[in-house]
Amino acid sequence: MARRPKSFARVRELPLVGRAADWGMGSIATSKQTRAAGARIAGLKATQSICPYCAVGCGQVVYTRDGELVDIEGDPTSPISQGTLCPKGSASRQLVQQPGRITKVLYRAPRATEWEELELETAMDMIAERTIAAREKGWQDHDGVRVDRTLGFAHLGGATLDNEENYLIKKSFTAMGAVQIENQARI
Ligand code: SF4
Repeated sequence: MARRPKSFARVRELPLVGRAADWGMGSIATSKQTRAAGARIAGLKATQSICPYCAVGCGQVVYTRDGELVDIEGDPTSPISQGTLCPKGSASRQLVQQPGRITKVLYRAPRATEWEELELETAMDMIAERTIAAREKGWQDHDGVRVDRTLGFAHLGGATLDNEENYLIKKSFTAMGAVQIENQARI
């Protein structure tokens, strides 16, 4: 029969508190520094929000100090996510504070190999001009019957769009004559 290690035999004889201490559990195993340290969200302003990444719509609590974002955690009161966040939602603070975040419009012209920076207003004008041109180019009549539609463009919505955004997209693209309008909203 295999012999028990001495340490195991000693642990069995100790009262529960002593055994817990032996296993590195309980308050006796907590350092002074740990006892003095507060939670990283202690004293911060908490604001309820919704994860912006995908249409699941998990609840978040956004913690700020003097208006500066400090931390984002799952919201335990959310009936959807009950305090949990997936890896993307857990990293959503980086949407704001990631140093490599691109904050300028980048444009790569047809057949160009380099990106160039554009002013937002210039980029919006270019999008509007191209939307109008594509609409005209793809405008259809059906055997001479007016159908008021274009196949010049379509809209494909990403996972970050919510109900309200998809409502507006559906309205505006239908008004412009588009018939292919899709989204990924699940809420
Ligand atoms: S990205 Fe993750 S945390 Fe955010 S809403 Fe979707 S599932 Fe929830």
